[in-house]
Amino acid sequence: MDYKDFLATLDVELGQLFDSQKEHIRCRPGCSACCEKGDYPMSRPDMEHIMGAFMHLPAEKHTRVKANIAAVKAGRQPIYPCPFLLDGLCCVYEHRGIVCRTHGLAYLQPDNVVKLPQCVHDGLNYSDVFDGQTVNLPNPITISLRIDDILNRYGFEPEVIKPLIEWFA
Ligand code: SF4
Repeated sequence: MDYKDFLATLDVELGQLFDSQKEHIRCRPGCSACCEKGDYPMSRPDMEHIMGAFMHLPAEKHTRVKANIAAVKAGRQPIYPCPFLLDGLCCVYEHRGIVCRTHGLAYLQPDNVVKLPQCVHDGLNYSDVFDGQTVNLPNPITISLRIDDILNRYGFEPEVIKPLIEWFA
């Protein structure tokens, strides 16, 4: 399976998972909370796919993304806004990475701890089942949504996975 076909298949799978969790999901058009605070772990195929789109952006967007990358690198914070987020929209949306597609979903980790999305702290996804300390989620997703586990499930070697900004050496 090539990477584009994999992403299309993954989108179908994730769509079903979002549907199964819809009572806890507050995602709305125009919300970019998932892209404003994170480290965005990316695999090499993720980055190649994203950069393919980046190379075709109009010059003005190209310049803005490059300025964002420079600002994040200068700030050296572990959590940062994604450089590809422009005016609240992802400028490489169709080419976004695996982690971008899983944004907003919670899942049960092997240690039986539910991994919640960052936006739960903004009163968004899963805030109805999280009191700030304890998660009370009756039917969690039980497959791992970590990037390496997803890649493994689909028969890809994960190779290197690192935060988005670290791909810009
Ligand atoms: S690449 Fe796009 S979808 Fe992914 S974190 Fe950045 S802005 Fe969000």
